[in-house]
Amino acid sequence: MSWLTFEVRTTRRAQLVNITERVAEVVERSGVQDGICHVFIPHTTAGVTINEGADPDVAIDVESHLGELVPKEAAFEHAEGNSDSHIKTILVGPSCSAPVRDGKLSLGTWQAVFLCEWDGPRTRRVEVGVSRH
Ligand code: ZN
Repeated sequence: MSWLTFEVRTTRRAQLVNITERVAEVVERSGVQDGICHVFIPHTTAGVTINEGADPDVAIDVESHLGELVPKEAAFEHAEGNSDSHIKTILVGPSCSAPVRDGKLSLGTWQAVFLCEWDGPRTRRVEVGVSRH
């Protein structure tokens, strides 16, 4: 399996960025007809998830409610001031996978792949691997 990397420039501290088209492009270029697409984020304060992309308000709600669940200002030991970002990254996870069918990324009707930025704005790397069955 070969991995391809692309970069995403985020613009806010907490931001879900829809990266579906860029992931789908890697899948199509891989030439794999049937297999699995893996997405991995090599960072400790950004992750990835698959969720609703049809209504952009869902991503806005995730940003604000995870912010309430894990507030930035709290009693943390880690002195960098971004413990909340590390914890939110654990909640969404560093990777996800989806089926590849007929040479295309095969998501559910309402699904999209989101880079989850929790300590932006920054430039983030997204690694995409496509493997055959
Ligand atoms: Zn830190």
